[in-house]
Amino acid sequence: MGELRKDYFTDRLAIITKGVTERSMALRFEEEISKKCPYCPGHEDMSLPAELVLVQREGALIKLADTEGEIIKDWCVRVLPDKFPVVALDAATTYGDEPLYREPAYGYHYIVVASPKHDEFFSRMSLDQWVNVLSVVQDRVRWLYGQKNVSYVSIFANHGKNAGALVEHPHLQIITLPRLPPVIEQEASKVQKSMSELGICPMCNVLHIESGGPRQILATDHFIAFSPWAPSYAFEYWIFPKKHQTSILRITQKEIKDLALTLRSTLGGLSNVLNDPSYSMIFHISSEKKTTRQLHWHIEIYPQHKRLNGFEIGTKTYINQLSPEQAAELLGSASRKELAKLLGIS
Ligand SMILES: [Zn+2]
Ligand SMILES: [Zn+2]
Ligand SMILES: [Zn+2]
Repeated sequence: MGELRKDYFTDRLAIITKGVTERSMALRFEEEISKKCPYCPGHEDMSLPAELVLVQREGALIKLADTEGEIIKDWCVRVLPDKFPVVALDAATTYGDEPLYREPAYGYHYIVVASPKHDEFFSRMSLDQWVNVLSVVQDRVRWLYGQKNVSYVSIFANHGKNAGALVEHPHLQIITLPRLPPVIEQEASKVQKSMSELGICPMCNVLHIESGGPRQILATDHFIAFSPWAPSYAFEYWIFPKKHQTSILRITQKEIKDLALTLRSTLGGLSNVLNDPSYSMIFHISSEKKTTRQLHWHIEIYPQHKRLNGFEIGTKTYINQLSPEQAAELLGSASRKELAKLLGIS
């Protein structure tokens, strides 16, 4: 399997996978899915056995796993190893020092099938199902941080073709890394520096500034959604827990319900404003490794309606014709309508 390399000069990382054979397998996989969806009930044998399956039995939700001989039917959420993993347990054992830094791309790559219903997009999913998905993600992330060589657990979802989703069926992905990705390293350093010098979390400070301001989209009991000051994408927005919290692993059942409401309302709002756009949803959480710095966890949502141009890719300076204030106004009104519908307020 592959290796993880670091750029000569910067902290940028690249995973080099084996290439030809896997790619052709992936293409064959794509061909397969054009005929039938591998994540739909009844097609479970197209994937590897699920390691975590949430099922409803006699009114209660229980967690099971597929075995060699038995695939669990009537599931609500399934977690299965990806058939074409980006990182793997049998990674190459090659190491190298800078400037040719490399280490094995060791890790776990899972698919979280978010619903048995093929067209139940995240923006239309019931609140109960959202709670199920978030609880399963929390469970798997907790387990992964207990495994060796897992420094960071990346949770994300791609929805729609422009966001690179190969399968339309709603799903999230979890990929672990043996070291912190640069963006998490940067955010965590900033938090730690401010904490030790000023005694305040800079992310809590930003929430204080954005709360009730022109970029706020929605605020619930425990979460706030807002368009960031300097967005990379039009209609990009972030969701933060209002109180200082380092990881999704720390949130209570009550907070999970509130997060489900926030996600469902804002994604519903986004979908209404842009007519079901492609988007990526990325969780930024703290590492659970004892030696690493902590951040204030959050979710970032990037709508993908246009490709980045050369200037943006080459300079990491993004051009936005829509201001975050205008985006927040549109997303705010659409999200509040969704929220009112979900809560039964007309
Ligand atoms: Zn499907
Ligand atoms: Zn904070
Ligand atoms: Zn972030």
